[in-house]
Amino acid sequence: MTERVLTGDRVTGKLHLGHFIGSLQNRVALQEKYETFVLLADVQALTTHFDKPDLIRTHLREITLDYLSVGIKPERSTIFIQSMIPEIAELTVLFSMFVTVNVLRHNPTVKTESKNSGLDDMYYGFLGYPVSQAADITFCKATIVPVGDDQLPHLELARKIVRRFNELYKPVLVEPKPIVGERLIGTDGNSKMSKSLGNSITLDSTSEEVAYKIKRAKTDPARVHKNDPGHPDICPIYAYHQAFRPDEYPEIREGCEKGTLGCSACKALITSTLEQLLEPMRERRSSYAAKPKIVDDILISGTQRAREIARETMAEVREAMSLNYF
Ligand code: ATP
Ligand code: MG
Repeated sequence: MTERVLTGDRVTGKLHLGHFIGSLQNRVALQEKYETFVLLADVQALTTHFDKPDLIRTHLREITLDYLSVGIKPERSTIFIQSMIPEIAELTVLFSMFVTVNVLRHNPTVKTESKNSGLDDMYYGFLGYPVSQAADITFCKATIVPVGDDQLPHLELARKIVRRFNELYKPVLVEPKPIVGERLIGTDGNSKMSKSLGNSITLDSTSEEVAYKIKRAKTDPARVHKNDPGHPDICPIYAYHQAFRPDEYPEIREGCEKGTLGCSACKALITSTLEQLLEPMRERRSSYAAKPKIVDDILISGTQRAREIARETMAEVREAMSLNYF
């Protein structure tokens, strides 16, 4: 069977280094081998941002520029808009018939995110977003989903939904498997760099912004003086060395633990590593940003292609469920 890749991002803010490590770099590599679909999850963004449609609208194009800047190639990857594929909404409704509320309530990622939101109660759409994510994956019969580890419970649910659907009706859907990227810590030391936690370095950051965020980032609190021995395993800066300078981090660990490498020198090293990563992205970004018509055409043709596939899958699903009346 040929593999097909699908992933996407909530259109809630610009993409950051965590997305790059967790998912984007895998997508860039996978697109060379497999047909790849990249979803701009604007409906899923509404589950927490339904009162901010303008923010979603603005970020749709920003994230598209993020994709193009990291090297997602429109000729290899289909970039498309979730809300413009009504079949995803249809599949969500059909799947929701055989997913229980308790399964969704006990989903660990839903629990963490709902706790972070500070609300006592969950919106119906938010509680159900893992079901809608199963529809995102199955409409194009994706087999590989490159994601961060917070998405694993959702992938497990998607696999269960596929199995259940196939045994209840007809085996028309395909079980997806995840490819899991590393999780990147936030500049504040939170275990996840996240759009909604304000602890991220976005991919479109200027050199000054990167330097400023790294300067302000938390380090080992026990290291008061430059030559105090450090504890790299609790330091976000060390985590960034591991993620972005994999060849050199043993020396950085040693320097930190022995107190021979001070925090500001260590921060200067990672700042320059990040510059090397981000500079080519900035160039690609500005060349696409100067041609908004081309960016729109990429979205229009990607969405058209996704829609064609969605129609085909939906016809099979309707037939499997005896919903093909005429
Ligand atoms: P939000 O806070 O709005 O949910 P987010 O930063 O979690 O935003 P998503 O759009 O929900 O971003 O996630 C898109 C993809 O990026 C998912 O596969 C997720 O696992 C991955 N991802 C997000 N943050 C990180 C991170 N810090 N490290 C690794 N992967 C991440
Ligand atoms: Mg998220």
